[in-house]
Amino acid sequence: MKKLSLIFSLLFIFLSASNSFPQLNKKKLVESEKHHLQNYYKINKILYPGDSSINVTYYGLNLTLTYSPNYLKGIATINAKSTENGLTKFFLDLQDPLLVDSVLLNGSKIPFIHSLAKLNINLPRSYNYGEQFSLVIYYQGIPGSSGFGSFEFGSHNNQPAIWSLSEPYGASDWFPCKDTPADKADSSDVWVTCSNSLIAASNGTLQAVVDNGNGTHTFKWKNIYPIAQYLISIAISDYTVYTTYYHYAPSDSMPVVFYVYPEDFNNTKPYLDKVANMIAVFSNFYGPYPFLKEKYGEAEFGWSGGMEHQTITSLGGFDDDLEAHELAHQWYGDKITCADWQDIWLNEGFASFSEAVYFGATSGTDAYNLMMTSFMNNAKNAVGSVYVQNISNVNSIFDYNRSYAKGAVVLHMLKGIMGDSLFFQLMKTYASDPKVAYGAATTADFEADAEKVYGSSLSYFFNEWIYGENYPHYSVSWNNNFIGNNIYSVNLNLSQTTNTDPAFFTMPIQIQVKTSAGDTIVTIFNNRQNQLISFNVIGTPQYINFDPNNLILKDISIIDSVDLTKPQTFTLYQNYPNPFNPSTTINYSIPVNSKGFIQVKLIVYDELGNIVARLVDKAEPAGTYSVKFPPSNKHLASGVYYYQIIAGDYIQTKNMILLK
Ligand SMILES: [Zn+2]
Repeated sequence: MKKLSLIFSLLFIFLSASNSFPQLNKKKLVESEKHHLQNYYKINKILYPGDSSINVTYYGLNLTLTYSPNYLKGIATINAKSTENGLTKFFLDLQDPLLVDSVLLNGSKIPFIHSLAKLNINLPRSYNYGEQFSLVIYYQGIPGSSGFGSFEFGSHNNQPAIWSLSEPYGASDWFPCKDTPADKADSSDVWVTCSNSLIAASNGTLQAVVDNGNGTHTFKWKNIYPIAQYLISIAISDYTVYTTYYHYAPSDSMPVVFYVYPEDFNNTKPYLDKVANMIAVFSNFYGPYPFLKEKYGEAEFGWSGGMEHQTITSLGGFDDDLEAHELAHQWYGDKITCADWQDIWLNEGFASFSEAVYFGATSGTDAYNLMMTSFMNNAKNAVGSVYVQNISNVNSIFDYNRSYAKGAVVLHMLKGIMGDSLFFQLMKTYASDPKVAYGAATTADFEADAEKVYGSSLSYFFNEWIYGENYPHYSVSWNNNFIGNNIYSVNLNLSQTTNTDPAFFTMPIQIQVKTSAGDTIVTIFNNRQNQLISFNVIGTPQYINFDPNNLILKDISIIDSVDLTKPQTFTLYQNYPNPFNPSTTINYSIPVNSKGFIQVKLIVYDELGNIVARLVDKAEPAGTYSVKFPPSNKHLASGVYYYQIIAGDYIQTKNMILLK
């Protein structure tokens, strides 16, 4: 899930000497890590809704929906097994606005009590561990709507739109269920009967559309994969349906199906046409798309954001970031679901990180780094641990700075420690781990896979970054001694301040030393609050660059050297994507300047030299900035465009191609 309230902001990047993303050399680590965080949180799990004495194996929803009046009539079939011996009663979660007409157990009516959001059922005999039963529940009413709008009768362009968004606690607003993400059903069916003028999208494969001959028709959707209750969805409107194909093998393809409001189709089509390739990009990094036997779909809805319903993402807008985010959730969120909402970063951190992965794969390392820098800026504002302390508050679970931005940065840092190759091996290993694939996971499951792939304990890392708070604030001073033979000893005095939990962060840290003989990068292992570290280099040391590839979320003050945390030179970066359609991003850097601010103009010209847009015209301080082109609502023809920056004495021009 992702809310569309995030705006491109100033991006201050840590300049790196190169654009590449070299891997840490494990051999250079000082293997003296101490587990100084043994006593981190021992949190009692907050009890979920959801009766643990049953294990749901199937949801079948047969829903009849009318818009005028807003009304739902439902027949829910729920198959379940007892998880204990001698089970005589249990409950399902179902909110009170819905009225239960009758409950059948294995075909026979049984008594029930529906009260305080629980449907309490007494079994006519006791069931032992593993024994199965099938319930059919007839219910009706106007569903309530909780969280981000779990069930909505909305509209667009004066047309009806009905949709669900159950995450985290809203599934029971519209169907009886066991309301925990840890208990997935093995499969599900969703049948929707609605007016002939409307189309209903849901999970899995559309088996049939049956005309009922009374002005209504019934969409019969079947999902054959395990599914969490909150990932079951409906999206209903007068959609334009558009299908593309993801070709995952020379002779095999999977449909990619879009349900878009008719008035939005032309504007969104360029984005829709990118999605099949997006699936290919993520399949390359994370392993095969998890639901290849069905489809991937996107359905427009009225919430301003996106929600990764299994095989049918709901979207309130269409752009690369949002679509990449929700698509990545199909691996991390849907195939592997966080077992509890405390571990939501396993969904949201992974999907946010994947936005950067997608931009890196399609537009280059600069694009990855800029997005990660943006996540880092937000992550610094995270309050509390990534592991969510208070899951009774929906906004606390879906806190952007913590669950999304810092979660993404955690993966970026893990990638820095493991190196790209092992890290992406981990992402595939985790996605296919039989313990969690098509099931649910906690942080401990992911950590176990990470340690297996890495071949060494990473408990210091997860303890600090998932269960600890804040981030390291480093203070570094350094000097050097001549040893002889053009060899110098670099002596670092490294200290960390301000943290309480952990008191300090244990991390491998890259140090780049520029000497008269060239550049060298050394990885040190910082495992004390105050630490003296020395190593030898060839040539006279001129300056050091701390964490040159920005692998660590941190603040830093360096004494006795240049402040390298701000840009040192003017740079106009190549736009990305390029060629582009319909929009692209242009980044530029303004270096530290004695006056504090510098007048910046960024102007776009067409091939004839006509000014097309003045993107920037103002005084700006040092930093790296990001602007979108073209400005919204500006319609341009295909062709070459030139963008020119004028900042003080610096003038630079680059070109870009709009390809429609
Ligand atoms: Zn998300």
